[in-house]
Order: sequence, then C-alpha cells, then structure tokens
Amino acid sequence: ELPPGPVEVCADRVSARYGDGPLVLHDVSVRIEPGEHVAIVGPTGSGKSTFAKLLTRRLEPSAGVITLSGIPLDRLTTAGRVVIVPQDPFLFDGTISHNVRLGAPDGDVERVFDDLGLRGWLATLPDGLDTRVGLRGERLSAGERQLVALARTALADPDLVVLDEATSGIDPATDMVVQRALAVLTKGRTTISIAHRLNAAAAADRVLVFDNGRIVQSGEHPDL
Ligand code: ATP
Ligand code: MG
Repeated sequence: ELPPGPVEVCADRVSARYGDGPLVLHDVSVRIEPGEHVAIVGPTGSGKSTFAKLLTRRLEPSAGVITLSGIPLDRLTTAGRVVIVPQDPFLFDGTISHNVRLGAPDGDVERVFDDLGLRGWLATLPDGLDTRVGLRGERLSAGERQLVALARTALADPDLVVLDEATSGIDPATDMVVQRALAVLTKGRTTISIAHRLNAAAAADRVLVFDNGRIVQSGEHPDL
C-alpha cells in the first residue's frame, strides 16, 4: 500500500488507445516528484485527458506501466487517495453542502470553504451552503461548478490531485477565485493539472507539453 504523504508518479513508456482504435498516447514517460505541481498543456485531442484517465484507472494502458510511489497502479487498492477533478464535474440535484460531502461524508464542509478562500463566494449565493444547485448543477456557472468540485476534493484530502480544468464558460472574476482555491488545494500535494489557459500553467512548478499523444516539451513555465 501507499506510504503516507504526497505520492511520486511515474509513467514508463505508457501507450493508450480506446477499444481497438488507434493509439492516442505513444510511449509517454515522466516522473513527477512527491508534492510537485505539474501542468499539462497542448492542443485539443493531444491526449491530456486520456493521461488523466489512466492515472485514475478509468482506462488501462495498452503498454507500459504507471506507478505511484513505486507501486504499479493495478496493484493499488487505495483509489480514494487519488482524486480527479473532471473537466465538467458531476453535481447532483441537491445543496452545495450535499455535493461537497461526496468527498467525505463526515468532513467539515464550512472549514473547507474557509480554507479555500470561498467564504466570499458562498455569501453571494441565496442560501450559502444550503443553496440548491439544480439538475447537474445547472443553476451554477461552469466556474462555480468547478469551485464545488474543488471543495469536494479538498474535503477528500487526497495525496494526488488530477485536475482537468474546465475549458470554457469561466468568467475572469470566478477564474481568480478558482485559481486561489487551487493554490490552497495543491499546497503539499502532488498535483497534475490540465491547464487550458496559460495563467493556470503559471502556478505550476513544471509544464509538460503534449502533442499528438506524446510529451514534446518539459520545463519551467518561463521557458515555454
Ligand atoms: P481537449 O483539450 O479537447 O480536452 P485532450 O488533449 O484532453 O483534448 P483526449 O480527450 O485525451 O484529448 O483525446 C485524445 C484522443 O483520444 C483524441 O483523438 C480523441 O478523439 C480520442 N478519444 C478521447 N476519448 C475517447 C473515447 N472515449 N473514445 C474514443 N476515442 C476517444
Ligand atoms: Mg481533455
């Protein structure tokens, strides 16, 4: 089982495909240090979300091995310590509080909102934590849905966070709140964030550039 604390992520010559379709990831190798925040950027269809799916075992590699702190993913049962925040997080028709509690039924929801700097945002909602989000969260904006997903993730307190950022529909004001919450969430945790905008990648220790299913560049943000 995984040792306590932030995990190291290693991908060794990993390839992936959907069903019997063509390979969409080719020989991807990368090592991510415990506690490191790596951003993944690249054009649409370049394999970023596919890589995220492999890490959370929504898809199995067709070749190669992924290890967490040296242990092959398929030998790990502690899936709860790896949490993905998907591009379009799933919210069910309940209150904000209920949706965040999916992360951990007994967690302190108010405290998580405080920690993430989201008290101000909550105050803008009609009923704060008791605000109903509507079917699939349709009463919230895309950015607000992402905030709920970040709070849910913080409550789950995972050792590896995989964040597939929302692609569109985030206004600049909400985006600032998202980025601030993200900075808190990623502190002291290994984080892999798929960034669609460069300002999000700027917060990372390192940026990996995907193109056509391969890592074509890796470096600190100012180099890119
Ligand atoms: P975006 O920036 O648009 O989110 P991405 O880099 O995340 O793009 P992926 O979703 O990883 O790209 O897709 C990589 C390739 O895999 C694309 O060619 C895509 O069409 C294909 N693909 C993705 N999901 C599936 C799926 N469920 N079934 C079949 N092919 C898929
Ligand atoms: Mg994607």
